[in-house]
Amino acid sequence: MSQPLIRLDGVRKIFAGEDVETHALDGIDLTIDFGEYVAIAGPSGCGKSTLLSILGLLDTPSEGRYLLNNRPVESLSAAERARTRNREIGFIFQSFNLIGDLTVYENVELPLTYMGMSGADRTSRVTRALERVGMAHRARHLPGQLSGGQQQRVAVARAVVTQPSILLADEPTGNLDSHNGEAVMQLLRDLHADGATICMVTHDPRYAAHATRSVHLFDGRVVPDDHAGTTTGVGGAAAGARRD
Ligand code: ADP
Ligand code: MG
Repeated sequence: MSQPLIRLDGVRKIFAGEDVETHALDGIDLTIDFGEYVAIAGPSGCGKSTLLSILGLLDTPSEGRYLLNNRPVESLSAAERARTRNREIGFIFQSFNLIGDLTVYENVELPLTYMGMSGADRTSRVTRALERVGMAHRARHLPGQLSGGQQQRVAVARAVVTQPSILLADEPTGNLDSHNGEAVMQLLRDLHADGATICMVTHDPRYAAHATRSVHLFDGRVVPDDHAGTTTGVGGAAAGARRD
């Protein structure tokens, strides 16, 4: 039986500027079950990154509810929020966001240090995560000594090293050539096959097709399935069975 990991009800995000308000999210209802691989698609400016930031506890909704693992996120204290983000969320950014003066190894170790994990446990976890993404041989390099594709693999290792409940990826291939992009996408597919729950923003329909379900956004709203066009990129048996 499917079990929701994430549930958004009526989530809105309004950015107040000097003289204009931007309704980046305009009433989002979304459920993501354990083990799903969801692609978020839609044109530039439709709210994809805003949605992912809220899911990743990097930003807060202006209105609406967010239940993560049945817990209302809005009830968390600042410390609980930071702890939840550290333990439950793995974030992969378009621009990798590795720390330039830390080695590959140290970048991947950092979230475990925040968790308060002991040195010996950290070593085995970091080693395994780097092996998982094929980057163990570059452990002592600095990010600047790596190609973009290699940096993104390290960023994937950093995101999975804490064994989070969900991996969030915001256009993870956006800064990569197609060869390296495909390698990172294959990595995400392998992680999903091993049980990871993934929510990925992409505007590339080929990559959206890797997911088990696509959610289309337009002007801060979810486009109903029957209006999402014919090339929705929805694949697999799970797609037809879902009702949110
Ligand atoms: P996408 O990722 O789909 O391209 P975004 O979520 O980045 O879209 O942005 C959605 C809308 O919200 C855009 O109109 C954008 O300009 C606006 N926006 C995003 N972040 C901010 C911010 N911090 N302040 C003001 N407006 C913002
Ligand atoms: Mg974006």
